[in-house]
Amino acid sequence: MKNLLEFSYEELVDEILNLGLERYRADQILDWVFDKKVNDFEAMTNLSKEHRAFLKERFKIPFLKLLDKRVSQIDGTTKFLWELEDGETIESVLLYHPGRITACISTQVGCPIKCVFCATGKSGFVRNLSTAEIVAQVLSMEKEEKKKIGNVVYMGMGEPLLNYENVVKSIRILNHRKMGNIGIRRITLSTVGIPEKIVQLANEGLDINLAISLHAPSNFKRDELVPINRKYSIEEILEAVRFYQSKTGRRVTIEYVLIRGLNDEISDAKKLAEILRGLKVYVNLIPVNPVDESLKKPSRERLLAFKRILSENGIEAEIRREKGSDIEAACGQLRLRKQEIKTRP
Ligand code: SAH
Repeated sequence: MKNLLEFSYEELVDEILNLGLERYRADQILDWVFDKKVNDFEAMTNLSKEHRAFLKERFKIPFLKLLDKRVSQIDGTTKFLWELEDGETIESVLLYHPGRITACISTQVGCPIKCVFCATGKSGFVRNLSTAEIVAQVLSMEKEEKKKIGNVVYMGMGEPLLNYENVVKSIRILNHRKMGNIGIRRITLSTVGIPEKIVQLANEGLDINLAISLHAPSNFKRDELVPINRKYSIEEILEAVRFYQSKTGRRVTIEYVLIRGLNDEISDAKKLAEILRGLKVYVNLIPVNPVDESLKKPSRERLLAFKRILSENGIEAEIRREKGSDIEAACGQLRLRKQEIKTRP
């Protein structure tokens, strides 16, 4: 049985033609799935009974099974815990901004990178998500909430560039007019920074937003926060970012999780401005969401001072507003909690 959510548009059309059906049947099916969130051929009433039965034997259209859902009383942020076909679990989050809904989706079960402040890394790495599992997160949230998602950020669990093929294919599917229909400039990929993959992405001809999780202005400090930095230095990452910009012309977002006493010194802000000079960037300052007692947010004054230093040095920055702090919306927290409950004697 083939998984319909694994197909690109062109692949699906080929498949449909090879089965002896008319080309427009592909569009009809996609309209049911992506627009109406119907994942059972029986309900696709503009197909003949014979065709429905025939297609049902060949394709499955698996939406995700909801295990838990939490809605923030503060800002409506909604967090979903899904169970996959093999029993593994992943999270997705919906964020409500005035006039738009953003989905934050996962690309791996767990994560191999193990940034010290991240809950996902603590639960280890299990496997990559398939294209279908990435796409199904968006469809399943839309179905669940009966709302259309306008923006997608690849900022959930996992490192998207370590699951490159499936992630890029999912972007094409979510972007395609007859499929996810999400504008390419409304899709953002956040990465810890794998230089060769950033270069490859620059050559895909996709005009997505790129966000780099930098978190430190020197390799000395970054080695401690983001262990993979020992393999890919800040210089190599910024070189790749420069290439990405030369290809796409896009401004790149730099994410910087601020942790008291670790990377929030005034000297860190100055150094950060220095290494980013000449790049078309925008810095997103994110007060850490503490996953254990050793990590603390900087004071409000320090946050503002950090931002001011960047602006004074010509680097535009914004302090990210916290969302869903009452529902453990930070990356991996909900899944981690479930595992703790499951493994408790
Ligand atoms: N692996 C990718 C995408 C997933 S993480 C990446 O590293 O970019 C998405 C963002 O959430 C990253 O910038 C990450 O550093 C940040 N993040 C993870 N845990 C966090 C926490 N406890 N508090 C604040 N931000 C966190």
